[in-house]
Amino acid sequence: MISILLTLSLTSGHQDRQTIPDLGLPRHVETRPKGFAAGYKPVALTFDDGPLPSTTPLILDALREHGAKATFFVLGSNAVRHPDLLRRIVDEGHDIGLHSWTHAAKMPMAQAQKEMDDLQRLIEKETGVKSWLFRSPYGMRSSALAQVAKADGYTNVFWTASAADTATTNPEVVYRNVCFTPNPGEIILMHDVKPHTATAIPQILDELSRKGFTPIQISQMLREGKLGVQRAASKASNREPSEAKY
Ligand SMILES: [Zn+2]
Repeated sequence: MISILLTLSLTSGHQDRQTIPDLGLPRHVETRPKGFAAGYKPVALTFDDGPLPSTTPLILDALREHGAKATFFVLGSNAVRHPDLLRRIVDEGHDIGLHSWTHAAKMPMAQAQKEMDDLQRLIEKETGVKSWLFRSPYGMRSSALAQVAKADGYTNVFWTASAADTATTNPEVVYRNVCFTPNPGEIILMHDVKPHTATAIPQILDELSRKGFTPIQISQMLREGKLGVQRAASKASNREPSEAKY
């Protein structure tokens, strides 16, 4: 009896499982892409945990004014309440990726599968885009969510630099963290739900532009650059859940 119930539950859970076709995309990104043309300095600004109407539109406004592109790893719990922002992200040429529905560090595999599938369906319904990009909450690499993402063919995008905007409320600190020493190919972790990040973005975009950087979507950076071997023991991948919210 138990085995019958288990089979039924697995079957129903997989009925509309969302998977990514194998297009030869990298499955795991945790170092800077390299090999860009001389003088070309792309940078990938990535914003997690939104969208929220109090902050995300401010960031989108600043990106538009600067002609800059970025990547938004959205939470289902926010996206379902603000589908207009999902559409705006895609309409204005930014990448959209999945960051789970609840942002829980631990959950059963069946829930992880449902969170990924529900969010993928929501994004596709609202924007017409099926996203192949995933960022693991807390940068965890072996969580149930990360395992589902791997099995279903997503590209798990970590980061190579952090604005550390979960550790401050000061826009000036966010600005300095991003602009101090960016390198071409940098993948920068930020949170569009943080008011101080929204405040800092115009100044960050000014400074990146002054330094000759071009903010682009992660998909474009992966097309234009070359990934080296993704080492297992990089800083980003070793992050574990803590008081900080990624
Ligand atoms: Zn997060």
